[in-house]
Amino acid sequence: MTIKNYINGAYCMPSSQDWLDVINPSVGEIYGQLPNSNREDVQLAYEAAKKAFPEWSKTSVEKRSAILAKIADLIEDNLEVLAKAESMDNGKPLSLAKTVDIPRAATNFRFFSQAITQFYSESHEQIAAKSINFTLRQPIGVVGCISPWNLPLYLFTWKIAPALAAGNCVLAKPSEVTPYTAFLLAELCSKAGLPKGVLNIVNGLGSSTGQAIVEHPNIKAISFTGGTKTGAHIARTAAPLFKKLSLELGGKNPNIIFADCDYDKMLTTTVKSAFANQGQICLCGSRIFVEASMYEQFKTDFVKKVKQLKVGLPSKEDSDLGALVSEDHLEKVLSYVEKAKQEKMNILYGGEKLTIENGKNGYYMQPTIIEVSSNDCILNQEEIFGPIVTLMAFENDKEALALANTTSYGLSATVWTNNLKRSLHFSEHLETGIVWVNSWMQRDLRTPFGGQKNSGVGREGGFEVLRFFTEAKNICINYE
Ligand code: NAD
Repeated sequence: MTIKNYINGAYCMPSSQDWLDVINPSVGEIYGQLPNSNREDVQLAYEAAKKAFPEWSKTSVEKRSAILAKIADLIEDNLEVLAKAESMDNGKPLSLAKTVDIPRAATNFRFFSQAITQFYSESHEQIAAKSINFTLRQPIGVVGCISPWNLPLYLFTWKIAPALAAGNCVLAKPSEVTPYTAFLLAELCSKAGLPKGVLNIVNGLGSSTGQAIVEHPNIKAISFTGGTKTGAHIARTAAPLFKKLSLELGGKNPNIIFADCDYDKMLTTTVKSAFANQGQICLCGSRIFVEASMYEQFKTDFVKKVKQLKVGLPSKEDSDLGALVSEDHLEKVLSYVEKAKQEKMNILYGGEKLTIENGKNGYYMQPTIIEVSSNDCILNQEEIFGPIVTLMAFENDKEALALANTTSYGLSATVWTNNLKRSLHFSEHLETGIVWVNSWMQRDLRTPFGGQKNSGVGREGGFEVLRFFTEAKNICINYE
């Protein structure tokens, strides 16, 4: 299996013979190779995008919209193939890829195919000066989109769909860990009639391919989703080049549970928000804070439910958790269990590596619950990005809010309460870009999406991202 680059509407080989292995994490085996593209490949992709830009940016909104809608249809038609590829590449349960990842990739294209037809800009009249100002929202040109491995096609399309809808040409790089579905998408884009050069996909490591995209002097905007450390590096590189930057970074999200909540709904959702996708979702609620009066009850019930989760082959219908994405990542996640042991924390459940029947050398581990006595511990302060959550009791609202906000991250938070005043108080004071009250990961693509503090800069979603992918130009006409 050879993953190729997609440049100027065709699959192509890289200019050098520098190849990387791609691994199926459910069995720990190499299933193919992808190019580690260099500056020359990035330049080739840039030239194709630059050439396509004049026509694509002048293509009517209706036509652009129709092509994007067609891509959405083709993703849906190919759901089975794409879901299998995603599950094999990432280790996630096939059922999750089928019901979440791939449908959402189609929805991303469909949503932005419609959103662009409703996008508008402002005008400001200066009556006394007999002038009218209006804002032109023009596509930027060639933009760079860089995405991570945890929701590969979901997040890849979440960037390229709005970028294309707004009339830009795109140079995109999927994660080198999970390049398969982006590779398959390229063909669907050609079939849908996306003109050549409008979307170009270059594969490779962040330090080589990604860095070349970010450093390219004529790629004027970078939309990045990934780790906070990488985001900081990209910001340092891009700032002196005056690029537009959107950074969606890590999270360490609090899940705050009050005794007055709807208990059964909270319990079921909390199991999901803790362990969906093996805990490898930036929005997972990894710090669980529970009101002291019901802490023991919650602890018993939560542990009981988590014990029932089945870790298994991603292809099996009854697997709740599949494999972690890579051996390195598994080792990183397990190192936090070791730290917990060294600190004599109370491991309520899990913490062990697992061997799965027919899973050969796959990267499996138990969902893990650790009781902590302080929010200052490393487990509550560093992003683990795996199937580990911590539990801690709190006495009152003030303490819960302080615990939730005592982190360098600020992506999302969940609050479970039926007290309206409390839910509004928390919504106002939580230092996060997203607050869910009595729900988790309920998404409406019109809403702004992004984080505060070290979780990022800028917002994706709805018109916010269409504003990001356009340059605002004010025109002032005096008619005196
Ligand atoms: P990562 O930062 O290692 O890599 C993300 C992407 O950036 C990859 O494509 C990688 O090749 C590329 N990259 C790495 N170095 C680069 C460089 N110097 N220049 C340009 N590109 C570079 O992240 P990851 O391990 O793939 O993903 C996990 C992280 O992503 C977690 O921290 C998670 O919280 C975060 N994440 C955030 C969101 C969000 O919406 N905020 C969503 C999903 C994942």
